[in-house]
Amino acid sequence: MDHFLYRNGILHAEDVPLPEIAAQVGTPFYVYSTATLTRHYQLFKDALDGVPNMVCFAMKANSNQAVLKVLAGLGAGMDVVSGGEYARAKAAGVPGERIVFSGVGKTRAEMRAALEGGIRQFNIESEPEMGVLSEVASSMGATAPVTIRVNPDVDARTHEKIATGKSDNKFGIPISRAKEVYALAASLPGLEVIGIDVHIGSQLVDLEPFEQAYAKVAELTRMLRAEGHDIRRLDLGGGLGIPYTRSNEAPPLPTDYGALIKRCVAGLDVEVEIEPGRLIAGNAGLLVSSVIYLKNGEGRDFLILDAAMNDLIRPSMYGAYHDIDPVVEPAPGAGRQPYDVVGPVCESGDTFAKGRELPPLVSGDLVAFRSAGAYGAVMSSEYNTRPLIPEVLVKGDHVAVIRPRPTFDEIINRDIVPEWL
Ligand SMILES: *Cc1c(COP(=O)(O)O)cnc(C)c1O
Repeated sequence: MDHFLYRNGILHAEDVPLPEIAAQVGTPFYVYSTATLTRHYQLFKDALDGVPNMVCFAMKANSNQAVLKVLAGLGAGMDVVSGGEYARAKAAGVPGERIVFSGVGKTRAEMRAALEGGIRQFNIESEPEMGVLSEVASSMGATAPVTIRVNPDVDARTHEKIATGKSDNKFGIPISRAKEVYALAASLPGLEVIGIDVHIGSQLVDLEPFEQAYAKVAELTRMLRAEGHDIRRLDLGGGLGIPYTRSNEAPPLPTDYGALIKRCVAGLDVEVEIEPGRLIAGNAGLLVSSVIYLKNGEGRDFLILDAAMNDLIRPSMYGAYHDIDPVVEPAPGAGRQPYDVVGPVCESGDTFAKGRELPPLVSGDLVAFRSAGAYGAVMSSEYNTRPLIPEVLVKGDHVAVIRPRPTFDEIINRDIVPEWL
């Protein structure tokens, strides 16, 4: 459920009609709903009620300061994958003890910054990384709390580009080698081993792969404890999928996911961490765009929008599906016709949908891409010198631009022409 509904025939973000925002900031733009972000975070908290837990928002899904503030204000932790994200989390007021550092390629500088600013734990992904963290922490006279990310070799049954838990992925250490890698960690100075980490992929639409992975982690917990390690925290990753289309079968609910986690950790007396990104932010955002032209091609009609692949890359990168709705609700009984929905960028890949059935649209009409709050704005670029598009946050009838559209001068002035040229 989200808070983007038609009222009196006009699509709203909470209490605000989208055409009002379009008039204020121009199109295209992203708009996020505070109520939806809050609701989704709360679903996870409720689902894990009864086990000590922390829900760490995977902020690579949406790292706008205002979005982070909403979630941090509710008590969320943050899962960061770069020094930049760490700095963003701190800037949004998230204390270090609520920040988890994930990612396969943490640099010395990133480790140092996190140890200086405070960190809940590093999720270590390899032995070389472990060695470097040990050196960095020791040289600072610090102790780094660590979990080790294990790769449980389960098939997440999701898109190959976002599956991370098979043995041929670059993530984590093979679970079969966990015993020796944990022994190595325990022997190194500057590290304190506190738990286990796992994350098997994104947009998982069934619970079975989670169940397999978490069962392996529970078994590993018992084994490592028997080896003398103080395993007290399990980071179970993110990855719960969201409905990208109304017609699809619904993905599992956070409640059922929570129940599964509780089943898997029963009797272990551990603190649980999860790192959802997409489920919290995905359906809390829309991308709103205008129709520039309707172009009749041979056997197909192209709807040319002012949004493009640089603004929302998921369709061209993953073949992702997004529902597209007209902002003015079609009259009951209005017909539908197939359109190829495209952007203006000079790439054939700049296609959002082919043969999409939509009510008749004309130049100037507004359309909204659903489920665009995660992996949307954060993956955008200025390809074709198309300025990054504004992000807007709504709460009830409040509206605020939370990232403005840069001017052409601002974009051009970032380049420097050497004086010797
Ligand atoms: C991407 C990622 C997440 C979030 O995945 P979602 O599918 O957005 O929930 C969590 N943890 C790690 C380590 C990730 O790389």
